[in-house]
Amino acid sequence: MKIARFHVGTGPTRLGLVDGDTITDISDVPGVGTSLRAILPVLDSLRDAILTAGGERHPLDAVVLEAPVDDPQKYLGIGMNYREHAEEARQAGIPIPTSQLWFNKQVSCIVGPRDDIHKPAVSDELDYEVELAVVIGRRCRHVAPADARSVIAGYLVANDVSVRDWLMKRSPTFTLGKSFDTHGPLGPWLTTDDEVADPLALRMRLTVNGEVRQDWTTDDMIYDIYEQIAYLTQVMTLMPGDVIATGTPSGIGAPTGRFLNVGDVVRAEIDGLGALENRVVAEP
Ligand code: MN
Repeated sequence: MKIARFHVGTGPTRLGLVDGDTITDISDVPGVGTSLRAILPVLDSLRDAILTAGGERHPLDAVVLEAPVDDPQKYLGIGMNYREHAEEARQAGIPIPTSQLWFNKQVSCIVGPRDDIHKPAVSDELDYEVELAVVIGRRCRHVAPADARSVIAGYLVANDVSVRDWLMKRSPTFTLGKSFDTHGPLGPWLTTDDEVADPLALRMRLTVNGEVRQDWTTDDMIYDIYEQIAYLTQVMTLMPGDVIATGTPSGIGAPTGRFLNVGDVVRAEIDGLGALENRVVAEP
């Protein structure tokens, strides 16, 4: 299933089942409601009712898509998890880590798949990172890599928007440079795990104003998504709706100095999962 959060006009947030270029409102299905995060642990039991829902249908381009999960308890990201990207980061002065490098994106940075990205007033080093994002489906701790797929509800496209000079230089950790408001576009909808044959064989690309900047596949991760879940759950309980950005491939703007500017349109896409398309605007 592909499940989106959306609204029409000035209407309230609803959940919808995406099928091709239409979306069917499923919020009135008993047990569904308007929070995708809330139903993730019981999504399988709701499947038949969702797939046969008789709710209002809309053309996909007539609705406003929201972040599929806009209020996770945690939004974690792994740094330098693709080989060539790790090398470009090393050349920028960030040493290649010898273990999984984790940081938080504050959840207040999350925006929808078509929302604007703010170019901060305090930086000219606004950068992009297309990533496969994993959404956790059930509360879990101490998950072995071999069992990790069973705790995944599904997948999103993420743009881990990054303010390079606020990573390490203007602040000694990644937390601030990863957490500016609007720097967490997610979506365009949750594609449930059963629809993805192999999440480690997905092609991903990112364009700026139509020019390809990143074009890679998820099979090049240093630590795959199952190793990531195992490592994190040695430390913390993961909760339904928690979002994990699993790393970006090479092609970010930092090595060449080609950062994002006001007016740019950034498109981040993963085969089978859809695309984010966000315009850069000056921070209001
Ligand atoms: Mn990243």
